[in-house]
Amino acid sequence: MSRRLTLGPLPKHLRQNLLRLCANTAIADHQEQEEYPVHSAFSGEVIGHALAGDEQVVEAAFFKAREAQRLWAHTPVKQRAKIFKDFHDRVLREREFLMDIVQLETGKNRLSALDEVLDVAGNARYYANKAPRLLAENANPGALPLLTKNRVQHAPKGVVGQISPWNYPLALGISDAIPALLAGNAVVAKPDWNTPFTLLAVVDLLYQAGLPRELFQVVTGAGKTVGSAIAQRSDYLMFTGSTATGRILGKTAGERLIGYSAELGGKNPMIIAADADLDKAVREVPNACFSNSGQLCVSIERIYVEAPVYEDFLSRFTKAVQQMRLGAGFDWNVDMGSLINQQQLDSVQSFVDDAVAKGATVLAGGRARPDLGPFFFEPTVLIDVPRDAKLRTEEVFGPVVYVEKVETLQEAIALANDTEYGLNASIFAAPETGWQIAGQINAGGVGINDGYAATWASIASPLGGMKQSGMSRRHGEEGLLKYTEARNVAEQRGLSIRGPKGMPPKLYGQVMSYALLLGKKLRFLP
Ligand code: ADP
Repeated sequence: MSRRLTLGPLPKHLRQNLLRLCANTAIADHQEQEEYPVHSAFSGEVIGHALAGDEQVVEAAFFKAREAQRLWAHTPVKQRAKIFKDFHDRVLREREFLMDIVQLETGKNRLSALDEVLDVAGNARYYANKAPRLLAENANPGALPLLTKNRVQHAPKGVVGQISPWNYPLALGISDAIPALLAGNAVVAKPDWNTPFTLLAVVDLLYQAGLPRELFQVVTGAGKTVGSAIAQRSDYLMFTGSTATGRILGKTAGERLIGYSAELGGKNPMIIAADADLDKAVREVPNACFSNSGQLCVSIERIYVEAPVYEDFLSRFTKAVQQMRLGAGFDWNVDMGSLINQQQLDSVQSFVDDAVAKGATVLAGGRARPDLGPFFFEPTVLIDVPRDAKLRTEEVFGPVVYVEKVETLQEAIALANDTEYGLNASIFAAPETGWQIAGQINAGGVGINDGYAATWASIASPLGGMKQSGMSRRHGEEGLLKYTEARNVAEQRGLSIRGPKGMPPKLYGQVMSYALLLGKKLRFLP
């Protein structure tokens, strides 16, 4: 067992917690699996080894999950919910450990890691409270009033496959699985190659809360092998990641005719109206652009500012960004951490270099900071970004934002919508202006006087992407019911739906037609 995760040079408390994890986690048991090194994003050093799963491991995980799910489907929903209420408390109590490990794997600052903890707790509480009502059989008016009794049941899909990315390995690793499990499914989950330990750590808390181990199988390894093997076997697929991979998985889901939910890329705009509270905007906008070092599907990458406040906003925003505190480590006094790895650093640098070579002006940042850690890049503000610069339309997924002056709000709205994506948008304005603009933005989430957190944390409402930013939604009722199949059960009582025995078809037709006309008039039909 201890072969499963071998640990490199880690702080002592993390080492002990992770060793406990090694002994506890129910990864499918295949001794001959290859190991691969996992690196600290802060320093680049190896922090441990995870198993590189393959198709056989995925097959074994599905076998166990299917068996466990049959029992779980008959466990009363209230009993399932109890586990998640306990899990909620454990996540909050173990937050320091969870934040440590998230930071170690991703390089993000502590506040961004806390966001993940709060997200998991929020989803556990919301769905544990809601599931009994959402999953209860509900009665609808039947075909014939009084004679047809009709109910909808919500049957679990079976085994849900979940493929999650490295940027929010805790929140995106577990929050979407919570409603899937509560709905009576098992889950086979694949964390990203770079961040396996975070998911293993939080799943361990779920086991401690009482979830049968086989119900939540984690298979670590490469996307192409493990991810596609999961997509080939699951009864429903939940994916968060790039639009390119989302399209590949959508194809598999389409061929297999299984349900599919995907939250993909974005090129998220912000509009700053002339009537905005600029003090508030200057305080909030850095967070909207540079949380998790901009490696956030909903973070803001372009800002359109109405002419009367453009100069004022730009100078104050630039100053605020220049004053941001960067650093590696686990304390709270860091505004922005590292990027995750060399590949991300190279990608962000090349987007900025391309824009600058084509004429963009750098007002803040624009360069790597190897003095802080191997993958640090400064929060970057650009203006004069030309049409042909790649980052004008393509998602950077890093700490880079460009600012542009607009003459009217209509121009800002047109520019905001001029994208193949439609994930998130943000508006800073007087509330009335904000709501007016929001209704004209083609994005699945729109924050008013907030970047993304207010929509994300409003868990009772569905959230997701329009256009190339995804399909289906997480959160809200939809976020749970998507993991179920509606079963329509109707009981015909007394009279046959074809009328009394021996009734001639012609007479049946006349009676039914008159009944429908009367039913509409007297409103006793639905
Ligand atoms: P990113 O660019 O943020 O890494 P990806 O879409 O490449 O986004 O990765 C998101 C998740 O999808 C990761 O867990 C990754 O391993 C997985 N993945 C990548 N390629 C595939 C694929 N071809 N099939 C299934 N999963 C994949």
